[in-house]
Amino acid sequence: MYELYALRYATRQANRSDHFIGGDPHDGPMPMDYFVWVAKNADRAVVIDIGFTAESGGKRGRRLERCPIDSLALLDVDPAMVDDVILTHMHYDHVGNFHKFPKARFHLQEPEIHYATGRHMKYKQLAKSFEPDDVCGIVRLNFDGRVVYHNGPADILPGIRIVPTGGHSAGLQFVTVETRRGKVVLASDVTHYYENMETYRPFTTALHIDKMLEAFDTLRAHASAPELIVPGHDPLVMKRYPAPSPALEGIVCRLDVAPTSG
Ligand SMILES: [Zn+2]
Repeated sequence: MYELYALRYATRQANRSDHFIGGDPHDGPMPMDYFVWVAKNADRAVVIDIGFTAESGGKRGRRLERCPIDSLALLDVDPAMVDDVILTHMHYDHVGNFHKFPKARFHLQEPEIHYATGRHMKYKQLAKSFEPDDVCGIVRLNFDGRVVYHNGPADILPGIRIVPTGGHSAGLQFVTVETRRGKVVLASDVTHYYENMETYRPFTTALHIDKMLEAFDTLRAHASAPELIVPGHDPLVMKRYPAPSPALEGIVCRLDVAPTSG
């Protein structure tokens, strides 16, 4: 059983039409938040996704509000002591900062590295979500024996399971974590916003739209109730879940307790 936290490290202004294939008839502001997640108990802390670096974010006009890894100290987590990091996929905003974990193993679905190093990266439309230095970094970590490639669902540790789904990237996976609230489904980019999943309108960064739609069903199949699913980029997450302390308001929220508002 784990405590489970979302740590918000960046945000950006965007519009509704940016987030739904086919646009949105009622276009208006719809900002995007960026998170890393931490599952923690007396034995260990597992970090799920590691955010973008100031450099790779800067190239894309994204600004860090705080370094996601330095900010782990807010949760009493020392990245030097972390043994297991789960990478939901290799897009730049999920996979930078691996250099800040000196001893961790990195869990990744193997199709993702093949895709990120394969022939499709010559197409800017597909490559733009990846940072070449991140991709090379993961390749190097593998040479050091520090990448665990999975080909399918797996129990990483007791109470923590990874489940691959296609659609948004070739080797995307979501993560389920046992908490006192039940099994929480960290969707990551399987659904960027609650609304993508609820209305079956996939996000605009898409590899296979059919698989993105099916992945919404897979999320639901792994959650005993829809409110146990946590989207990957939705500012509503910080609104719905409480901060662990007043000082962390707007920075960290607890996902192992019931949402405080709808
Ligand atoms: Zn992504």
